[in-house]
Amino acid sequence: MTLPKLSARAVTMTSATLLTFACTALHAEETAPNDLLNATLWMQNSVEYKANVQGMFALAKIRFDEALANKDSTALPELQKSGYQSLPPAVIVDCDETILDNNVYEAYLVKYNTSYSSKTWSQYVQDKVTEAMPGAVEFANYVTSKGAKIFYITNRKHKDEAATFDNMQSLGFPMDSKVDTLMTKGEQQDWGSNKTSRDQVVANQYRVVLMVGDNLGDFTDPSGSPEQRLKTYQANSKHWGSDWIMMPNPEYGSFESAAFGGNWSLSGEERRAQKISALKVWQPK
Ligand SMILES: [Mg+2]
Repeated sequence: MTLPKLSARAVTMTSATLLTFACTALHAEETAPNDLLNATLWMQNSVEYKANVQGMFALAKIRFDEALANKDSTALPELQKSGYQSLPPAVIVDCDETILDNNVYEAYLVKYNTSYSSKTWSQYVQDKVTEAMPGAVEFANYVTSKGAKIFYITNRKHKDEAATFDNMQSLGFPMDSKVDTLMTKGEQQDWGSNKTSRDQVVANQYRVVLMVGDNLGDFTDPSGSPEQRLKTYQANSKHWGSDWIMMPNPEYGSFESAAFGGNWSLSGEERRAQKISALKVWQPK
C-alpha cells in the first residue's frame, strides 16, 4: 500500500492539528475537577492559612512556657508513669502539615488530576524539597533553647527517614544525632501507623509537656466512625489549645477516611458519594 503524498502545506496543517489536540488534552488534564483544589489553593497560596499556622505556633510557645514551669503538667497523663515530674521535658510534634509543608506534592496531585500513591510520595520525599511551616523552625529551636527535647513522630516510612532528616536539617530544625528524635513508621517492629507506641517510648523517659499535630492520630486514637471521633474529641476537651495544639489541614487526614469507613478500595466516585451523604444539609422550603 502506498501512502498518499501530502503537500508541504497539508503536512504543516496536520502537525498543527495534532499539536492542538495534544494541547487540548493536556489543558483538560490540568483543569479537570479535583476534590483537592480548594484545600490546596488555601494551604499553599492564602495568607489566611499562613497567619493561622503562625498564630498556632505563637500559642504553642505560650503553652510550652506554662507547662515547662509547672512540673505536674503533662500532655500524656495516661502514658506517663509515677515520678514523671522529675523527668526531663520534651515536646512531641508531627511532621507533615504540622511543621513541614508538602503543598507542592498536593498541587502535583491536583494539576495532573491523580491520587496519592506511596511511590510518588516517596519520590517527592527523596527529592528533599519539603518546606517549613511559618513559625515552625523558630518554635522548634525555642523548645531546644529552653533545655527541652523535641521529638518528631511521623508516619513517613523508615526507608525515607534519611532524606527527611537531611531535608529538615537544611531547613534549620534542631536534629539530634545521639538521641533518636526522628521516629518514623516501621523503624521499630511495633511502630505502626498508630502513634501510641512511639508516644510511650518518649513518655517513659521524658515529661511530655506539649504535643502539636494536624490529625487526631497525632494525639490519640483517631479510629472509629465520625460519631466516635466526636466523642474522642469531646472527652479530650481540656487538652485542645492547652497542651494539644491542632493545626488546620483540610487536604487529608482521618476526618476524610472516617466519612467512608476507611474503605480505600472504593472508587473515587463512591468515596465522594459517601462524603456528600455524611454532610448535614439545609433543605429550602
Ligand atoms: Mg501530619
